[in-house]
Amino acid sequence: MSVRVVARIRPLLDKEADKDTIVRADSAEPGGPHTIVRIPNPRNEAEDFSFAFNSVYDQSTTQETLFTSEVAPHLKSLFQGFDVTIFAYGVTGTGKTHTMRGGLKLADRGVIPRLLSGVFRRGKKITKDSGGKTTVHVSLSYYEIYNDKVFDLLEPPENRSSLGLPLRAEANGKTVVAGLTERACVDLKDFEKMYIEANNNRVTAATKLNAHSSRSHAILRVKLTQVTGDMVRQSTASAIDLAGSEDNRRTDNGKERLVESAAINKSLFVLSQCIEAISRGDKRIPYRESKMTRILSLGQNNGITVMILNLAPLRSYHLDTLSSLNVSSRAKRI
Ligand code: ADP
Ligand code: MG
Repeated sequence: MSVRVVARIRPLLDKEADKDTIVRADSAEPGGPHTIVRIPNPRNEAEDFSFAFNSVYDQSTTQETLFTSEVAPHLKSLFQGFDVTIFAYGVTGTGKTHTMRGGLKLADRGVIPRLLSGVFRRGKKITKDSGGKTTVHVSLSYYEIYNDKVFDLLEPPENRSSLGLPLRAEANGKTVVAGLTERACVDLKDFEKMYIEANNNRVTAATKLNAHSSRSHAILRVKLTQVTGDMVRQSTASAIDLAGSEDNRRTDNGKERLVESAAINKSLFVLSQCIEAISRGDKRIPYRESKMTRILSLGQNNGITVMILNLAPLRSYHLDTLSSLNVSSRAKRI
């Protein structure tokens, strides 16, 4: 079981060009790779806090570089049968959706379309190299967890029950979402159509609830099945765009938002505890304590987990950035 916790600092947007930046990527030793995030102590700006990561990506990092460094190396393991889970964590506006979904232009595409592209490419090669003996099947589930309820994003929002989908424990001890759509996907085009439609469903459903999609976790699961004769190998890649980690109680204390905040805080807290337990090599990982970690069976197999902490360099995010740095484990303060 392995976990990497990395940070990505986004660049300033055009409209932020004149703003003050306070977050910096740094190296542990001169000329070394970036593994440290520095940010001033808000109580005494003459002093910096430093947080260590497995790797830190600064504002100049392209989508291509991030994917090549943090995701592509795990494609091989995925095809060997290991599960791969990638999280984007951070305050709203720091680049989680940009990192996971990205833009429409080829160079702007994020982790998810690149992952699918890699899966299809590798799958085709495996089939070809085996002389057609091994067939590779890809299917998708895409759902969100909002206020601790699970909603299917591959279903139109009008089919949604406000109760969400129930969880079911299977004989093998795994927890599954009962009634979740699983759709076969044959190529990247096919995927893109489904993905765009599902993301539209997400926005429509959130708007109907007078909510915002940044208040829910969006979880894409790619199930890979490789069949050779009567041998079947199955593995899953999960890509998760987490709810914003900011404390909304400070900015918006409506009752609805308080309920949302409580659900988000709890699940992000459990997630960080799981990541910490996995990185320490603990036997006991508290994955049962939130719906998301339970459905993902986080840390229950020999999988690979990558946590990407997204950061905005702006002073206006100072306290939220600091708390996200504090929470993301292994980001130890040094
Ligand atoms: P989040 O999903 O965390 O709320 P977004 O992904 O929506 O944040 O990013 C906020 C804004 O910053 C968007 O306009 C997005 O396009 C832009 N952005 C984020 N990361 C980058 C990046 N690495 N390069 C360029 N623009 C970025
Ligand atoms: Mg987002």
